[in-house]
Amino acid sequence: MKLNRKSFLKGLALGTISLPLAMRGIMGTGHAQSSSDEGVVSSKKYNWKMVTTWPPNFPILGEACQMFADQVNKMSGGRIDIRVYGGGELVPPLEAFDTVRSGAAEIGSGASYYWAGKAPAAQFFASVPFGMNAQQVNAWIYGGGGIELWEELYRDFGLVPMLGGNTGIQMGGWFNREINSVDDLKGLKMRIPGLGGKVLEKAGGAPVLLAGGEIYTGLERGVIDATEWLGPFHDSLMGFQDIAKYYYTPGWHETGTALEFFINKDQYDRLPADLKAILQNAAGHVNIWCLSMMEAKNAIALAELKEKGTDIRSFPIELIEQLRIHTREVIQEITDQDPFAKRVYESYEAFRKKASDYADITERMFYENIQLS
Ligand code: CA
Repeated sequence: MKLNRKSFLKGLALGTISLPLAMRGIMGTGHAQSSSDEGVVSSKKYNWKMVTTWPPNFPILGEACQMFADQVNKMSGGRIDIRVYGGGELVPPLEAFDTVRSGAAEIGSGASYYWAGKAPAAQFFASVPFGMNAQQVNAWIYGGGGIELWEELYRDFGLVPMLGGNTGIQMGGWFNREINSVDDLKGLKMRIPGLGGKVLEKAGGAPVLLAGGEIYTGLERGVIDATEWLGPFHDSLMGFQDIAKYYYTPGWHETGTALEFFINKDQYDRLPADLKAILQNAAGHVNIWCLSMMEAKNAIALAELKEKGTDIRSFPIELIEQLRIHTREVIQEITDQDPFAKRVYESYEAFRKKASDYADITERMFYENIQLS
């Protein structure tokens, strides 16, 4: 690109921050550039393994991992070659975190609430019941202090975290029992993992742990009365519409679950600056791609479910209020026991309140008054 006075002034007028760096590249720094940080491209090649918590070829979430690897490969001219392993292909899904810590794989993909048993604070970087939506979670992590806390937490495990996608707000789930009051939750056997399950338990329900492949038959045979999964797209692929009576909304328990990449910190620190930037950029790309695909495919799948006559219901507001109270109790118990979880949650909650106030005079107005019906 030819740099002339006109484009230079235009850059200044727009407050471009990249221009001084570009100028430095063009003009040189006045001394020999020896380190990779100064732009000399090393030809060293890295062959990495990525272990994931997703079943092999899992739509969107698994595809996002392969897309990350492909993007990194292309951007680096093949200098980082990442082979992606679905959950169970190299190690069981929930061993991904420890596998990357040990260095047996260089990078992993998952959702940080899977690691709550290792660090209670971790789950707040994935999802909090009655928490922020995808847009707000991205805002908190990228721009509201979240990433600094997340890096601090994962540093103790020898890992570097990056956002790697978001499911968007999920659905409340599929029920074979009508839910008209809090009493209808009593004894309800529901597949709902994580904090949502703890909250349901406080409300008198019975959270059941079932692997992905067991949910359909569990629901069909009455082993469970209800299950949550993701949104209309993934839920339809599971076939729940054929065996469940009601599809409830909203997904109060997963309002915008963030997905992650985690990289072995020793391996990451050894990379030249351009390859670090490539990894960060590929993760950023996948983050927005994943949420966009979720939104697109869920919107299309919902239209199809409606066409087929799926009975879509809303949870009663009294029940939502009760679950909100139990959520506060569950979070209080976690933050009372773990100082770092307290720190993270305080940051999360302080930001959520500001984001909520902002959304109240913008997004809420949009949904209530601006959208065409
Ligand atoms: Ca879910």
